[in-house]
Amino acid sequence: MRVLILGGTAEAAHLADALAARGVDGMLSFAGLTNRIVDTELPIRLGGFGGAAGLADYLRFGGYSHVVDATHPFAAQISAHAVTAAALTALPLIRLQRPAWPPRDTWQTVPDLTAAATILPRAARAFLAVGAQSLGPFAARPDLWCLTRSIQPPKTPVSGISILARPPFTLASEIALMRQYEITHLVTKNAGGDQTAAKLDAASALGIAVVMVARPVLPPAPEVDSVVAALAALELL
Ligand code: NAP
Repeated sequence: MRVLILGGTAEAAHLADALAARGVDGMLSFAGLTNRIVDTELPIRLGGFGGAAGLADYLRFGGYSHVVDATHPFAAQISAHAVTAAALTALPLIRLQRPAWPPRDTWQTVPDLTAAATILPRAARAFLAVGAQSLGPFAARPDLWCLTRSIQPPKTPVSGISILARPPFTLASEIALMRQYEITHLVTKNAGGDQTAAKLDAASALGIAVVMVARPVLPPAPEVDSVVAALAALELL
């Protein structure tokens, strides 16, 4: 057995550790967009494969037996490539995706970032907790004042202030941040998980409107929602 994990999430790193602990051969792959050094016992590789065909070649020539797509729920391109590459190589694919946050009545759910940028009212003070790569649509709204928070510096300038920080975040710190910048709207992707969920409770406590970007629709693949379930699917439990 040799497993390629497509990573970029905490779950991918946990799965890599779990495989290493079982003596399973494998590789944890990152796009290489951030300079984070991941502490895992499994070997890691950085950078794209050159599309679905490149990923299929990588799997063939690397002697892999299984692929686990444990990328972020909004990393739609690599997830689609994983489906195509698994079909091209006839290898089993497991998609590991943490559950989405359950909808709340107070959220305005939108299908994508462009819709989120459009729906914000004029002169809103928006907290854009969407990641450095996802700010493009908000650059077209110079009437907004935006607080952006990301791990890497944003490449797209939006009006307002930009801070760099890495999860997890606490309820107290999220409340303090939203109060400090007099935020009226929180914009976030439905990433799910505990590490970034405090902002939703903070917004709720402060009566701040939430614009929630729904997850992209991915091509069908066998899906699990936890590391334990992924290990079970790999018959390693
Ligand atoms: P994406 O749009 O789905 O992928 C863009 C390209 O990046 C892919 O076509 C692939 O290049 C390469 N790539 C992505 N993930 C890779 C991986 N794990 N290993 C090797 N190559 C990878 O992805 P994205 O939204 O830019 O996200 C990039 C990475 O950041 C992902 O690994 C994801 O898990 C992580 N991440 C994304 C978000 C988000 O909101 N999108 C949030 C947190 C973390 P080739 O076509 O050349 O193979």
